[in-house]
Amino acid sequence: MTQLSTLAVRAGQVRTQEGEHCEPIFTTSSYVFRNAAEAAARFDETEKGNIYSRFTNPTVRCFEERLAAMEGGASCVATSSGMAAILATCMSVLKAGDHIVCSESVFGSTIALINRYLLKFGVEVTYVRLDDNDAWREAIKPNTRMFYLETPSNPLSVIADIRALADIAHERGVLLVVDNCFCTPALQKPFELGADLVIHSATKFLDGQGRCIGGAVLGDAQIVGKDVFGFIRTAGPSMSPFNAWVFLKGLETLELRMRAQSAAALDIAQWLEAHPKVRKVHYAGLTSHPQYALAKRQQSAFGSIVTFEIENARAGAWSFIDATRLVSITANLGDVKTTITHPATTTHSRITAQERERAGITEGMLRLSIGLEALEDLKEDLAKGLAAA
Ligand SMILES: *Cc1c(COP(=O)(O)O)cnc(C)c1O
Repeated sequence: MTQLSTLAVRAGQVRTQEGEHCEPIFTTSSYVFRNAAEAAARFDETEKGNIYSRFTNPTVRCFEERLAAMEGGASCVATSSGMAAILATCMSVLKAGDHIVCSESVFGSTIALINRYLLKFGVEVTYVRLDDNDAWREAIKPNTRMFYLETPSNPLSVIADIRALADIAHERGVLLVVDNCFCTPALQKPFELGADLVIHSATKFLDGQGRCIGGAVLGDAQIVGKDVFGFIRTAGPSMSPFNAWVFLKGLETLELRMRAQSAAALDIAQWLEAHPKVRKVHYAGLTSHPQYALAKRQQSAFGSIVTFEIENARAGAWSFIDATRLVSITANLGDVKTTITHPATTTHSRITAQERERAGITEGMLRLSIGLEALEDLKEDLAKGLAAA
């Protein structure tokens, strides 16, 4: 059992004596012991086994083992959200006085987590351009503990060279942490490229149908299996068994969805690029993308996020959105329903206009997350937007 599609439907399942075919949801907060000695042995960890669902739960464990098999990580810990996965990683790996080098184009709440909370506890940070390997190297200090990045970036589809950054990090004993939310193991395997830790917001493509909030941290048995697990079990941002079950079902169709949504996104990106009202399309699957070759080498497809710029700045972008009828106006992404958002006034509205300009987020920019609707219906809807823009 080595192929992703097999692991996605089979890995991690332990059938109970009932012989159920589908994985059950264990809705229990605690577990009973056969006798007092067994309780004592579980608590002093001389015997493995369940105690309390903040620590372990069979449905959550099934999700963790399946995702670990798919990413190729030794250990996986599920969390209540993607942000909880990032927090748990930082709380486990960092201490006061440590330094992080972070991509300047990571998820907005990740930047807020670092700037508002980690800094308060004496952690230092340097932000660098995702695709500037020299900047990553030059930012390393004696107290640097972690490189942190997402690739492709949101919304501009800038690609990090994971292998090159892993080499730069490891030369100086720094851990490389990759948030693999946008590609998932269906399209990109950060561990094979040298990453030490992989983070997921399961809320996005792992679920794929916009139902639950969850996350995961993957890595080796010490950092993840002991340290991150220890933080989650003590601090409490554990994944609920119901959500774990929804994500398990999501994993079963992940590869099919990622391939279909990537193929549709490439088609839409090419179609938009050829349209006279579109100034620029940001999608790493286009041969016009400056990092097309790197993306092709590092990913097996280019993902579902297509960002493009139209004339007429904010007025044009808002008119585009308001003229559509099929696509959903929501800032979420990774759903089988196509979504559209105006980054400058939603996902990137809390940074200053100057910071937006520096990050390349223009007023005429729109971000699509392409779903599973028929291409001709999507194009018909987006054509309404283009006509109105
Ligand atoms: C959404 C997202 C997160 C945060 O995940 P939540 O499940 O919303 O907490 C982290 N990283 C990336 C890249 C995301 O898109």
